[in-house]
Amino acid sequence: PAEVLTFGETMLSLQTEGPLTTGAPARTAVAGAESNVAIGLARLGHRVSWAGRLGADEPARLILRTLRGEGVDVRHATSDPEAPTGALMRERLVADVTRVHYWRAGSAASRQRPEHLAAALAAGARVLHVTGITCALGPGPLSAVTGAVEHAREHGWTVVLDVNHRARLWSEQEAAPVLRGLRGSVDVLIASDDELPLIAGADGTDEAARVAELLAAGAREVVVKRGGEGADLYGADGRHLHQPAHRVPVLDTVGAGDAFCAGYLSGLLDGLAPADRLRRAGTTGAFAVATRGDWEGLPHRDELSLLDASPGSAIR
Ligand code: ATP
Repeated sequence: PAEVLTFGETMLSLQTEGPLTTGAPARTAVAGAESNVAIGLARLGHRVSWAGRLGADEPARLILRTLRGEGVDVRHATSDPEAPTGALMRERLVADVTRVHYWRAGSAASRQRPEHLAAALAAGARVLHVTGITCALGPGPLSAVTGAVEHAREHGWTVVLDVNHRARLWSEQEAAPVLRGLRGSVDVLIASDDELPLIAGADGTDEAARVAELLAAGAREVVVKRGGEGADLYGADGRHLHQPAHRVPVLDTVGAGDAFCAGYLSGLLDGLAPADRLRRAGTTGAFAVATRGDWEGLPHRDELSLLDASPGSAIR
């Protein structure tokens, strides 16, 4: 069986160098938060299964081929003959500024339902990884998440939720009650500092109080991401650790959170001490920002130490 089961929307990603209006050429790639995490884990040598829903189309073939090529188990991915695979376009406008367009309304992933996960859940895992993005895709995907979480809890798996708020998909007012409804079932909660208010606390509450509320609701660990400021880990045992970010040249910040999550889960699966898993997460997060692409630059296990190499060094 897999160590980690994850699912969610993975899309065709078209990336232009310049504005679409002038007919800029585009490169094709694969984008999706959960599949980014899956690839990150597979590169670190973990057995991971991605069970998203795709159309019966060419983008689906590209996505499956890519995930397979990265060593992600896609045998439980499902195909919807009546809906397309979602797509997005990232237009590079100037330097590091991009504009994103989505074609995901009505996509195959938005039609995922709990029964599509039956085989994946029956196959078993140690960890279930879900994100707030899937919860935002519609009632079917949301019930797929809640059903999977329930199954995982019944079977003693560790449930990991990355809040991953996407304001383009749902408002804070819509997201908050849904996320708050899930928190009693989550073992490891991962959120950016600005996402914490969605899932805990009232207006004016500080971070410590929000974290305390999440731990009281049953989370074993709360991990707070702070971009270039690093991350913090709070444990139900009263532990509070801070991990500063690696100092790296920033090329492309997309996917940093997913890379961080993959590193953290890898540390959890390897039984690393809390400070060491937080360090591995910081390392994989730094790889994501220091390389181009959402997941392309993520490290294989034997590459984790590359960030310690002196600048300009050649590995021979
Ligand atoms: P995204 O939604 O873009 O994937 P996020 O908001 O979920 O990102 P961030 O907090 O931006 O996640 O980044 C996750 C982790 O990646 C950080 O905790 C940090 O360890 C690492 N990281 C992010 N930005 C930088 C940076 N500029 N330099 C070094 N490490 C970084």
